[in-house]
Amino acid sequence: MADYEINRQKEKTPMPEQDAQERAKNFNQVALGYDVEQAINEARRCLQCKNRPCVDGCPVNVPIPDFINWVAKGDFAMGYATNKRANALPAICGRVCPQETQCEGVCTRGKTGDPVGIGYLERFVADWGFDHPAEAAAAFAVQQGRNAKLHGFRVAIVGSGPSGLTCAGELAKQGADVTVFEALHAVGGVLSYGIPEFRLPKDLVAREIALTETLGVKFENNVVIGKLFDVKELMTTQGFDAVFIGTGAGLPSYLYIEGEGLNGVCTANELLTRVNLMKAYEFPEYDTPVYVGKKCVVVGGGNVAMDAARTSLRLGADTTIVYRRGREEMPARVEEVRHAEEEGVKFSMLTNPVRLIGNDDGWLTGVEVVDMELSEPDESGRRRPVPVEGSNHVIDCDMFVIAIGNHSNPLISQTTPEIKANERNLLIVDPETCATSMPGVFAGGDAVSGAATVILAMGAGKRAAAGIAEYLTNKASENQA
Ligand code: FAD
Ligand code: SF4
Repeated sequence: MADYEINRQKEKTPMPEQDAQERAKNFNQVALGYDVEQAINEARRCLQCKNRPCVDGCPVNVPIPDFINWVAKGDFAMGYATNKRANALPAICGRVCPQETQCEGVCTRGKTGDPVGIGYLERFVADWGFDHPAEAAAAFAVQQGRNAKLHGFRVAIVGSGPSGLTCAGELAKQGADVTVFEALHAVGGVLSYGIPEFRLPKDLVAREIALTETLGVKFENNVVIGKLFDVKELMTTQGFDAVFIGTGAGLPSYLYIEGEGLNGVCTANELLTRVNLMKAYEFPEYDTPVYVGKKCVVVGGGNVAMDAARTSLRLGADTTIVYRRGREEMPARVEEVRHAEEEGVKFSMLTNPVRLIGNDDGWLTGVEVVDMELSEPDESGRRRPVPVEGSNHVIDCDMFVIAIGNHSNPLISQTTPEIKANERNLLIVDPETCATSMPGVFAGGDAVSGAATVILAMGAGKRAAAGIAEYLTNKASENQA
């Protein structure tokens, strides 16, 4: 039972957004966030259901009705702390989680109208916490549930994406001495180098990471595990008691068609890393340049393709997405597709590239594509696209971005073969504890599941932390026996 008056409004309280024409020319945040009045209005749409389906729908089990209850009553410090205790990265999840297929997908209010804007409210409390650090810290100190159970143990985390950050924070809260090793010069994984500034401002990522540091987590950047040390060395010469591997799925997939080596062709990873991590859109103020064509074609239908297309549009290219299936089959979030369309990205559905065409100087001039039609569903459950004979035609372009997926780097299992991987180089783990085949070594996130989502990676980081805590406490009891 809610102890506030339920707001019967059927529609979600809209989130203010930057004007589409305006935002298509800048890298500032698209969605602007709720003010206090909008947040309370939306929070009061929550029915405080006894069976709490939304909590089960969340991979890190945020106590959603509880944090919303605080917001509805105007106690934002407690709303923040209640959320943050379960979710290490609320400012990030509130912006990029696919809530429509998780907590909001099972929200009771969704049966007769829009679900409660759980993501919008999560973003609200997280941002409120940043704006009111003293009050947020005081409330969090009451809520966070620290203990010293793992005092004296050293844990190495390989990779600083959402899985590694979550695992690190959970273990540090229990007193473990945690060091995160990151291959790049910046912490955050895809949150820092992949997802663009206009969806996830990098100062917010830095602020969430700074809060993880306040728990005592140490970060060592520019360290590639598998090159400087391998995992076995971490557990022997480097003296760590346990290791978590959260190395993600950062290797781009290619189309393997003629012309992929032409100038003007790149992967979404390269484009997004240059723009996000190296701030190439501010070249020459920043060192890294980025090539921008007049007409850009992006191939793919997921979030990465939307991010690449919206980025090339902002850099000034007339941008078209080509995708071999139909709109309904697109794996990208509905909101991202809508935003891309509003900003002026064009879509060419049921279209597949077969060849990239270049001039004598090795520069791209166009892409030959073929029309597709959908036949029976394949193993993914989506209808299989098949080429329409004789439908080949050329789309002129001088920039082509490949955004058809990412896969995992084999470095860890190649350098430490005791850690078993499958034929796709994904690490094999016990689904409950995240333990790998090597004692003391745990893994989670995209390195195990293949390219997935932030919240699934965080869920795995949390499960692995519980698995590591159990492993270490068992080890301590064995040593005492
Ligand atoms: P990652 O975030 O990939 O982090 C792995 C880290 O490990 C990296 O920093 C890497 O440098 C480091 N590393 C790798 N190998 C080593 C090594 N040998 N030694 C040391 N460090 C190493 N998900 C959503 O939920 N919503 C979205 O809107 C969304 N948009 C996306 C947009 C883009 C462009 C991309 C690429 C992904 C997107 N995703 C989105 C997916 C999501 O970001 C990933 O599922 C998530 O980041 C995976 O987390 P992770 O911790 O497993 O790995
Ligand atoms: Fe509130 Fe929806 Fe969760 Fe019910 S399911 S408690 S209405 S957020």
